[in-house]
Amino acid sequence: MERKVRVRFAPSPTGPLHIGGVRTALYNYLFARRNGGDFILRIEDTDSQRFVPGAEEYIIESLKWCGIQVDEGIEQGGPHAPYRQSERKEIYLKYALQLVESGNAYYAFDTPEELNALRAEAEKNGGTFAYNYQVREKLATSLHLSAEEVKERIERGDHWVIRFKMPVNEEVHMNDLIRGQVTINTSTLDDKVLYKSADNLPTYHLANIVDDHLMEISHVIRGEEWLPSLPLHYLLYRAFGWSDSQPEFAHLPLLLKPTGQGKLSKRDGDKMGFPVFPLQWVSPTTGETAHGYREDGYFPEAFINMLALLGWNPGTEQEIFSMEELIANFSLDKVGKSGARFSPDKARWFNAQYMHHRDNEELGRLFLPILHEHGVKACIFLATKVAAIIKTRATFISDFWDLSYFIFIAPTEYEQKTIDKYWKGDNPAHVAHVRELLAGVGDFTKENTEKTVLGWITENGLPMGQIMNAFRLAVIGVGKGPDLFDICGVIGKEETLRRIDRALEVLNNR
Ligand code: GLU
Repeated sequence: MERKVRVRFAPSPTGPLHIGGVRTALYNYLFARRNGGDFILRIEDTDSQRFVPGAEEYIIESLKWCGIQVDEGIEQGGPHAPYRQSERKEIYLKYALQLVESGNAYYAFDTPEELNALRAEAEKNGGTFAYNYQVREKLATSLHLSAEEVKERIERGDHWVIRFKMPVNEEVHMNDLIRGQVTINTSTLDDKVLYKSADNLPTYHLANIVDDHLMEISHVIRGEEWLPSLPLHYLLYRAFGWSDSQPEFAHLPLLLKPTGQGKLSKRDGDKMGFPVFPLQWVSPTTGETAHGYREDGYFPEAFINMLALLGWNPGTEQEIFSMEELIANFSLDKVGKSGARFSPDKARWFNAQYMHHRDNEELGRLFLPILHEHGVKACIFLATKVAAIIKTRATFISDFWDLSYFIFIAPTEYEQKTIDKYWKGDNPAHVAHVRELLAGVGDFTKENTEKTVLGWITENGLPMGQIMNAFRLAVIGVGKGPDLFDICGVIGKEETLRRIDRALEVLNNR
């Protein structure tokens, strides 16, 4: 029987979610939806030292903003609740003890001071200390201490940890859905801590494996940085006797800096002025603020579209994908092995594409508060009409004001370089004639004004560029902007004529 697809996004709330983390969540979500499966959000918060207040809420809000819907999680509940590991504390000790019992793990009583001394010693000799098969028999572990002594140490409250007993010199063959077969010799690996008496908590490795098993996860899709942990995870499944039901694994390629060299970091964002976080983040400790895509004016659809293509290739030239299209097309075998280079220009390009196709009224609504900030009392009707004629020139809503202020505020001054270039020769007289032509247009639509003015220019063999630029100067005071007949249509006949009259008066009497 085909196994039901169940995937999880399992972030640790140690700070704001990096866009690489959002991509991991997205690929899990797409995979789940594509395969009729479940998408689970599990919060891995067993590392109390790295816990950051607000990070969990940030993760949840980010997923919501992106339109990534969780099926089972802290807010949704589900058959395997709770979904926050700190609330599952009692579960893990039993499993750690099971491994000690079966000889796959052992107690270690070394104090932090003893371990530090061992590290210092190894460094002095030019090496690094590894807690592994070469040393475990010589240190304070249950592998050679007597059963009584182990019991006594535990009872008197000595600190202990449970470590995985890594097999010696064994080849582990692993399969990764993106990378294929990976083989590693266990003698290169150390004995990872699985459980700590100091806080009665499991480490990531134990909690992660136990929960993936209990939550019936079918596929683990996560960042490449977890690939080195894969042999341990394979061996843990084997030690528990769960190999037959262990999930399949897919390790996603890194997100690289815009230069293509190295992993994309928060510092790159600060340096080059682009966000590496989905939402703005204010550090609860330092008060420092980091930029977010949402606050920087990106549409969530554009952000998601951009992220989806950083590592996944649809196999066609298509670049614009709605969430539904991503779901319909996504597959892990089109995810690449090599790092995906992040491009801030491409991110802006995606936003511009979504801007150009956005509903005019929705844009009008987003524009209204900006107009109010500039002291313009426009209604939604006007804001929508303006949005319609400028959106193809904009990347962000914040571009709207600069692209259109001259529609809302009639010019009182005129741009000097445009005056010098176009308010000369026959142009002023031609603009005066255009005014008369426009005065005769009944239904003042763009089509009608355009036909009238351009018809007159072409029929008389007049210089189109000269006249249109002078005409533009008269109506908006500057040399650039959206289609002039569009503008006339938006401000209406009366205002258009008034502006030309004023320009003729001011510019001809300089
Ligand atoms: N808690 C881990 C993280 O923060 C999860 C890794 C995994 O998906 O196994 O990324």
